Amino acid sequence: MFKALVMERDGDGPATAHIRELDEALLPPGDVTVAVEYSSLNYKDALCLSPHGGGLVKAWPHIPGIDLAGTVETSTDPRYRPGDKVVLTGWRVGEIHWGGYATRARVKADWLVPLPEGLSTRQAMAVGTAGLTAALALLALEDHGLTPEKGELLITGAAGGVGSVATALAHAGGYRVAAVTGRPETEPYLRDLGATRILPRADLAETVKRPLESEAWAGCIDAVGGPMLARILGQLQYGASAAAVGLAGGASLPTSVIPFLLRGVNLLGIDSVTQPFPARQRAWTRIAQDLPLDKLESMILPATLADLPDLGQAILAGQVQGRVVVDVR
Ligand code: NDP
Repeated sequence: MFKALVMERDGDGPATAHIRELDEALLPPGDVTVAVEYSSLNYKDALCLSPHGGGLVKAWPHIPGIDLAGTVETSTDPRYRPGDKVVLTGWRVGEIHWGGYATRARVKADWLVPLPEGLSTRQAMAVGTAGLTAALALLALEDHGLTPEKGELLITGAAGGVGSVATALAHAGGYRVAAVTGRPETEPYLRDLGATRILPRADLAETVKRPLESEAWAGCIDAVGGPMLARILGQLQYGASAAAVGLAGGASLPTSVIPFLLRGVNLLGIDSVTQPFPARQRAWTRIAQDLPLDKLESMILPATLADLPDLGQAILAGQVQGRVVVDVR
């Protein structure tokens, strides 16, 4: 038997969360069974925890949790043996496949990465999908020419999960970070993570009035999308890039082609879900090498399975600071 947070739905009614003891025989097919120790809460988890599964969950009963870390219990794949520590992010686990809000998960070996050297399973989940995505975004910007000498790196949604890890990782890599937040009270937290400038969200909230403004930013990691990203595109330095990560402020992009044509800026799309193994391993290696563990610790809000429904509502309302780490046991 294993313990899980199960979303159950009666007909077309809303899904509700229950903590249940389930038989391991109910786990979906897969090569590797993991004794899960920690999971995390991402924006997408909150959608999966919502009454209609946020359009992501297609079948109930469902176990959410897009991230998990733990110890291999059984494996039919030669890459993993019982006792190995592993991490899983993405691959639509927790959406269409049972996820990490349980003490057991059965998954495909292809979806796993070995726990990065120097990180515990708890620390890996403090990073989670949000932190992996932050690292993928920073690497993409660097692959397109960003270096610390080029100027300030703008990070939006800075006090959220992606933004917090991006701020700490970029600072550790020598960047000057300008952090955009709608919560002025998070300024001491963001400065401690390494932000050198704090910009109120309102400064970038207005829709584009002029397609080009002064060249302010050497790059941008954007968790917000919408009018804010459109505005930022017109403020990038010549040839600079913005990494589009999220849509906390909206899925639209009300812009023009002018910044692309006259300033040669780039908009880089970041997907963390189906990154091939080498790309995931590259990002985890960067995290394990650069991310200061004391800063990672300062981002953690510890939680249990029972806390998740309320915390899910809070993250959707933009009220969670940093990273929620869930001890599922
Ligand atoms: P969080 O909720 O932790 O962070 C989002 C932050 O965005 C908030 O903390 C807040 O920061 C800011 N924000 C919220 N609402 C608004 C708004 N209306 N306008 C402007 N800013 C707002 O979520 P995550 O960090 O986990 O995820 C961030 C985004 O990235 C989500 O849209 C998520 O779906 C996406 N994502 C995408 C991935 C990918 O593979 N591309 C992977 C992971 C996440 P503050 O209070 O500091 O302003």
